[in-house]
Amino acid sequence: MRILAIGECMAEMAPTGAPSTYQMGFAGDTFNTAWYLAQLTPETPLSYFTAVGDDAISSRMLGAMRESGVNTQQVRIVPNSSVGLYLITLNNGERSFTYWRGQSAARLLAQDKQALAYAMMQSDLIYFSGITLAILNPEGRAALLDVARSARRAGKRIAFDPNLRPHLWDSPSEMTENIMQAAAVSDIALPSFEDEARWFSDKDPAATLQRYARAGAETIVVKNGAETVLYRTGGAEGSVHVPPLASVVDTTAAGDSFNAGILAGLATDTPLPDSIALACKLAGHVVQGKGALVPINQSLRDSCLQP
Ligand code: ADP
Repeated sequence: MRILAIGECMAEMAPTGAPSTYQMGFAGDTFNTAWYLAQLTPETPLSYFTAVGDDAISSRMLGAMRESGVNTQQVRIVPNSSVGLYLITLNNGERSFTYWRGQSAARLLAQDKQALAYAMMQSDLIYFSGITLAILNPEGRAALLDVARSARRAGKRIAFDPNLRPHLWDSPSEMTENIMQAAAVSDIALPSFEDEARWFSDKDPAATLQRYARAGAETIVVKNGAETVLYRTGGAEGSVHVPPLASVVDTTAAGDSFNAGILAGLATDTPLPDSIALACKLAGHVVQGKGALVPINQSLRDSCLQP
């Protein structure tokens, strides 16, 4: 199975601990998922679709993607443009994020509809998120959903994480309407209950599950932090216990890495409850490390693939 992830990767400046010194890295929700997927199932062909600029930082980003095992052949290069950036500030151990992404080339990733359609046609499983949609203008969103709809009709599977980020949208209603339009073109929905409850007023995870089922998703997995994961697939519903952790260091990319576990399970035809157990194991490892991209060792990789 060939996987395509679509979205925005940004340059990250993270404090090193030494005064005024930052380490540069590259991260972003859909890219984080691709990064974990490349580690979990290196044999699965995996591409990232985005747009970057033609400057030095853009080429460094492409290099970092390739080094992590992600194919960048479909990435669009936008002349005279660059990538988005965020800076992490630590305040008594609490991380806060400042973003500069208004001019990011990734906002134009859906401008060439044909390139997007071609990338989807070269894949079997296509993954994007509410953040992918949020950074686009209304025409870009319509183009992305239109191409995804056609790809689905052509037999591709579409996976979507709503990843609700109200500050990236003009209004909460614009966000919730667009999210449900994306859900309507998706086979697989991967929402997180806490955010969904806040913005859709779901009274419990079952309500989130039902809402995405009504929108037309065949497989739904509702994440809920340390709480039980609910799922529905092929009309059958169930739940998977989340193994408790002695300590949580940093929850950045918990959901992104969890999604990689689910997508890896789909790529290897693993039954959904086993994929969810795998996803919990991986996300549990990620929240015990610092930053978005926490390396996974061979023993975790092996145990992930045999949950
Ligand atoms: P998101 O990052 O999208 O908000 P969640 O916070 O729901 O996602 O977390 C995703 C997954 O990460 C959970 O389903 C669980 O497997 C794991 N996880 C997150 N927080 C914890 C925690 N405190 N203890 C154990 N597992 C956790």
